[in-house]
Amino acid sequence: MVGFDELKKQKGLRLNDIIEFIRQKHVTYEVEGEMIKNGKDLIFNVLQKSTTAPNTREYIQSYTKCNLHFHTHPQFAIWPSYEDIMLVMKQNLKTSVIVTRMGVWLLKNKGFNNNKSGNLHYEYTKFFNFMNGYARYKLDQEKQLQNISKSELYKIDDNVIESIDIFSKKLSDKIFIRFFPIENNYKNSKSFKEKLSSSKPSHKNKTCNKSMVKIIS
Ligand SMILES: [Zn+2]
Repeated sequence: MVGFDELKKQKGLRLNDIIEFIRQKHVTYEVEGEMIKNGKDLIFNVLQKSTTAPNTREYIQSYTKCNLHFHTHPQFAIWPSYEDIMLVMKQNLKTSVIVTRMGVWLLKNKGFNNNKSGNLHYEYTKFFNFMNGYARYKLDQEKQLQNISKSELYKIDDNVIESIDIFSKKLSDKIFIRFFPIENNYKNSKSFKEKLSSSKPSHKNKTCNKSMVKIIS
């Protein structure tokens, strides 16, 4: 069992280390930090963890501004929050990476400050309700892990992939949003890294510092 303080001290963390960390049952919070490109490798520096809001939601009080920013979502909350999408649409972040137990999201601004959310909130709520139901089903599966293998637990059902695709396409005029499912072999992490390498920095600042952007994940 690895805790947050131990994770934060570790150097040279890779994507699979982060995913293995958040797959631990006791990690019910988020972590955030920066990613550094090192040739074909991507190194994760963990900087802070979330706090629990009175409504029991986990949130990061102020984001770290850095070139390539990431944060994680706990348990089976494998979808981006509405605020995560808004931050990129409104250019508070140019690129956002969300690491979840089952895959990685890449969100990119399309080069303009997009304030017109249109019927996005309606579409988002439909998507959220579906994904939230799926998360509850997966949590139940996890409780019965003795009857199910890890590869089965973290394999995403086809209809969920389909719903994610439909949702991402609906948003495609507003934001680039893509999910890379990552199962136990981490094969798909290569295509995520390739896609990320064509990304612009998420923020102009070269070095990390705390911003006053308040995030609710
Ligand atoms: Zn989030």
